[in-house]
Amino acid sequence: MSVVPAPAYSGSLFIVAAPSGAGKSTLVNALLALEPGIKLSISTTTRAPRPGEQDGREYYFTTADDFVARAERGEFLEWAEVHGNYYGTSRLTVEQEMKNGTDILLEIDWQGARQVKKQFPHAAGIFILPPSIAALEERLYKRGTDEPHIITRRLLAAGGEIAHAPEFEYAIINEEFNVALSELQAIVKATRCRFAQQAARNASLFAQLGIHAQQES
Ligand code: 5GP
Repeated sequence: MSVVPAPAYSGSLFIVAAPSGAGKSTLVNALLALEPGIKLSISTTTRAPRPGEQDGREYYFTTADDFVARAERGEFLEWAEVHGNYYGTSRLTVEQEMKNGTDILLEIDWQGARQVKKQFPHAAGIFILPPSIAALEERLYKRGTDEPHIITRRLLAAGGEIAHAPEFEYAIINEEFNVALSELQAIVKATRCRFAQQAARNASLFAQLGIHAQQES
């Protein structure tokens, strides 16, 4: 009889981090269009909405008082202060979706990634790197959605975020968009095929085959 450790949920968890301007959101949106079984978790933030952003689509926008109260009640799976604003992931939403077998992708910073990894060691951590610092700067200016002083703050923070890249299992260099996208998709597919993840997703087949998965707490 074989015994394999299985994660507590049948859905897989992906963490995608990057410095601002590495092209993370564009890559993630393209991935979501290709892979129907995966959902992006919508975070709550105290940051002001950018032009074109809608409450409940890019983020749930809230006040600092409300955010802190919710953090104190333990409603966030993880939360962090990034570029002077609070950002957090809803614990309930993520856990319910993963219980139902949906894969969840978190677009969060390295501080949040650390907190998630402690609770979900099976989560696949992916870090998106820019091909150069110059490319990062150019993308931030071209986006045109932030004031120049905000862009400067984000560029300074980029170095801090990149310093934590080695804490992630996977690194993608976003030079050629289509290459980066196919690498991201490959990571998602490979993660879904991890033995323990397959055991959680296909419990009755594994039992039939005499492969007994051990539930992790
Ligand atoms: P932006 O303001 O550009 O949308 O996001 C700024 C940074 O906050 C990005 O690095 C993004 O990954 C991070 N972020 C967004 N949502 C969350 C979250 O729920 N938790 C954490 N820890 N970071 C987040």
